[in-house]
Amino acid sequence: MIELRHLTKSYGKGTHITTALNELDLSVEKGEIFGVIGHSGAGKSTLIRCINLLERPTSGEVWVDGVNLTALNTKALQTERRKIGMIFQHFNLLSSATVYDNIAFPLRLIHTSKSSIEKKVNELLALVGLQDHSDKYPAQLSGGQKQRVGIARALASEPEVLLCDEATSALDPQTTDSILKLLLDINKRFNLTIVLITHEMHVIQSICDRVAVIHQGGIVEQGAVTDVFLKP
Ligand code: ADP
Ligand code: ADP
Repeated sequence: MIELRHLTKSYGKGTHITTALNELDLSVEKGEIFGVIGHSGAGKSTLIRCINLLERPTSGEVWVDGVNLTALNTKALQTERRKIGMIFQHFNLLSSATVYDNIAFPLRLIHTSKSSIEKKVNELLALVGLQDHSDKYPAQLSGGQKQRVGIARALASEPEVLLCDEATSALDPQTTDSILKLLLDINKRFNLTIVLITHEMHVIQSICDRVAVIHQGGIVEQGAVTDVFLKP
């Protein structure tokens, strides 16, 4: 479902170049939950932002669902990006919009009819357990509820892939577990491919099928979570 080929990303120029990713190769299968773990500065955030081209790689290719995203023009990329949802550490909700309008936002962008939006948003509210909160504003919600809105918004376009950028790092342990459980439910229900980055081993061990360890912009180890972390 996702293939990164010889991906390199450098920031800066001249004598001030930082190479965040160095000829990195990675492949993620359809329907799996794939975790990337590493210390701060290892390149996790750059890696996940390259998958939907929020960050343009310096060289290399990004393939999602059989399409080489790095070869597309802006318009074609916009269409392909609907297959890729994303959630963030700090939720990135619109603070002046209600829960309902936050979730409806991506559907309005693609001119979905009002009745289809209403049906879809109500389905998504039920999916994430926020039926009774649709008229609230983000400031009236807990961290876990905000991330549920983020998840519902990311799923509005029925993506094939969900990218999670430190999605539970701002949450307490109990809330983290409830969000991880929701991600696992969604993964099973829609056969949704999930890629998550984290610095927390617990997140990897509780829901990931496979894991890659990233260090200085390269993958130093990868495999089934049980093989990589639970060896005697
Ligand atoms: P992580 O998410 O694992 O903490 P990042 O991908 O954020 O790692 O960073 C990888 C490296 O790239 C670090 O050395 C970081 O300082 C550098 N870096 C990240 N973003 C930028 C940027 N916008 N400009 C310059 N350097 C950056
Ligand atoms: P069907 O093939 O009958 O549509 P699905 O299990 O694919 O069955 O979908 C059931 C419901 O879930 C539908 O309302 C569909 O719009 C929604 N759905 C399917 N895939 C996703 C997804 N990746 N994200 C969010 N909603 C989805």
